[in-house]
Parts: sequence; structure tokens; C-alpha cells
Amino acid sequence: MTIADNVRAVREKMAAAAARAGVDEKSVLLVAATKTNPAERVREAIAAGVDVCGENRVQEMLEKLGQGAYEGAPLHFIGQLQRNKVKYVVGAVDLIQSVGSRELLSDIAARAAKVGVTQDVLIEINVGREESKGGVLPEELDELAAFAGGLGSVRIRGLMAIPPITEKTTYFEQMFNFFVDIKQKRYDNVSMDFLSMGMSADFPAAIECGANMVRVGSAIFGPRS
Ligand SMILES: *Cc1c(COP(=O)(O)O)cnc(C)c1O
Repeated sequence: MTIADNVRAVREKMAAAAARAGVDEKSVLLVAATKTNPAERVREAIAAGVDVCGENRVQEMLEKLGQGAYEGAPLHFIGQLQRNKVKYVVGAVDLIQSVGSRELLSDIAARAAKVGVTQDVLIEINVGREESKGGVLPEELDELAAFAGGLGSVRIRGLMAIPPITEKTTYFEQMFNFFVDIKQKRYDNVSMDFLSMGMSADFPAAIECGANMVRVGSAIFGPRS
């Protein structure tokens, strides 16, 4: 199976899930999680029609940016972002998907102001309350959304989560409820455009629960070594 075959198969599953959810398949964006894949394979995925590339590690992203790996597709940062690496990412990517603290959000806003850009971000929610995972706890979400209203140079465009592997549907449903709830509250600088959840193992279920952005790695590129 080539990358193009895999992208086609993923698209078919996305379309079927979108139909079950009663949404237009074009409203769901496919983010290729490109970590560990060299520039040439990233280009193959872009040629096969993925909507976005998502990278996890700053160093790896900078190397591949230097090689022109992402030309023709928007680039998102989807990994855990350390505060000392904010300067490399702000302005270099279209969306930072994984903002899970007030400190990180402040640093991003400060850097964006300094370089004269408006940085789009998603708030990552630690929906399963796992020690190992980043993100704000559900009860901290409103506070962070309200805090964003006072920051220039940054816009919150939605929510992201990596739920625990068990009972995913429950977590996906919870995420959709947070998404709708925050949207209704109309905080300044906050627009709930994207709900990013679902990976290779569960993207159809995520779409059925309202995801409009899925992040898929191994189903496109094969298993990571
Ligand atoms: C690697 C990764 C994915 C994709 O994982 P697969 O199971 O390979 O599809 C999605 N989101 C994030 C944040 C990742 O790091």
C-alpha cells in the first residue's frame, strides 16, 4: 500500500463517518501526523491530498521546514510545546493545537506580539485527567477561555484532545459538549471553529461525535518504528 492508497482509504472512512453524523465530508479536515517521516514522505502525503500537516517535535519540524517538506499544505504544531521553544513555533505554523496552560498561552501571545503576527491556537483538554498528558482539566477551560480575551495577538480557534484509549466515545462526547458550551459563551478572541480529536484507531468514532479535524499518522504512513 502506498501513501496515496492509504490516504484514499482514510478519506473513504471519513466520508462514511461524516454521512453517519449527517455532516458534509468536506467540513472535516484531515491532518497528517507526520512525525518520524522524512520530507519526501510528507510531500507524498500532501500530493495525495491531506489537508494539513501536523508535527510534534520542534527540532524535527525546523529541519523539515528547511527542506520545504510542507509546501502546499498548512502546518500545525500538535505536540507538547515547551515554553522555551515557543519562539521557534509562533509565526512558523498556522495553528498550535496543543495549548494546555495559561503560562504557555501568555508566552505565545507575547511572542506573537513581538514578531507582529496573530497566532491561532487550540486549547488542549486533558479530558481523561491523565497524569501523562498535557492540557487543561475540564473545569479550567472557562477560565483559560476568559483569560484569552485579554490577550492580543492570539486567537483561540477551538479545542483538541487525546483521550484515554478506553471509553473513547464517552470522552469524545464530553469534548463535543465543551465545544458547544464554549461556543455559546462568546468569549472575546475565542471562536469555536475546530474540534480536533480522533487518530488512526478511532477517527470515525470521533467524527460521529462531532470532530471536524482528525489527526492521522500510522493509517497514512504505516507503523512508526
Ligand atoms: C502521532 C499523533 C497522532 C496520530 O497518531 P496515529 O495513532 O499514528 O494516527 C495524532 N495526534 C497527535 C498529537 C500525535 O502525536
